[in-house]
Amino acid sequence: MRLVLLGLPGAGKGTQGDMISEKYGIPHISTGNIFRDAVASGVGLGREVNSYISKGELIPDDLTLRVVQERLNQPDCQRGWILDGFPRTVLQARELDRSLAKSGLNVEMACDVRVAQREAIERISNRRICSNCGAVYHLEQHRAEEKGTCDACGGALYRRTDDSEETVRKRLDVYMRQTHPVLHYYARDGRLYSIDGARPIDVVFADVDHYLQHLAEELAVGEAQ
Ligand code: AMP
Repeated sequence: MRLVLLGLPGAGKGTQGDMISEKYGIPHISTGNIFRDAVASGVGLGREVNSYISKGELIPDDLTLRVVQERLNQPDCQRGWILDGFPRTVLQARELDRSLAKSGLNVEMACDVRVAQREAIERISNRRICSNCGAVYHLEQHRAEEKGTCDACGGALYRRTDDSEETVRKRLDVYMRQTHPVLHYYARDGRLYSIDGARPIDVVFADVDHYLQHLAEELAVGEAQ
């Protein structure tokens, strides 16, 4: 199963990606997490991408494509994957298709998790993340039991530097200009599925899972033939 998750920053792609990964046993690959890990480790890639992330701009396509290709070549990706935060430009979407086609593969489903811009801003300004396991909290709707500490692993919670109000506005603007056209790219050949993301996490997942079960059945029939 090869899926991409699309949607505004704060739409809940990360949370849904984790849930899909757990149920279907395929890796959840967030390009944002890969880049943030590189920044934290302070190595070459991190230095290169840090200025883009901190300004809320996209990292250049050639660099992003190289990083994603390297990740998709890992053995855990053989049975499929969920890409979260990639593709973010039509060029990335086209190159991903082109590269997969060489191995007779494709992106089977692009899932657009929809929330209004106002909701996205509200969620991001209340978002806190575990510095150890990456679990996501909301200061009001999904509070940690002990303030500032992750319920799951005890790690310290932090606010992403690019979650500041000014950078979020920039990221939303970048999304509308550069990423929104990717929806049309997948809609053109019937691969786009739209999900209302403004509902409780489990309700959103039930919708996503409904589509995934159909997809899993289709893939199983295809393999059997
Ligand atoms: P995210 O965690 O998905 O919100 O991504 C955080 C930041 O990483 C973005 O604002 C970009 O600077 C960078 N980034 C993540 N994915 C991509 C991508 N597919 N193309 C370009 N830049 C990306």
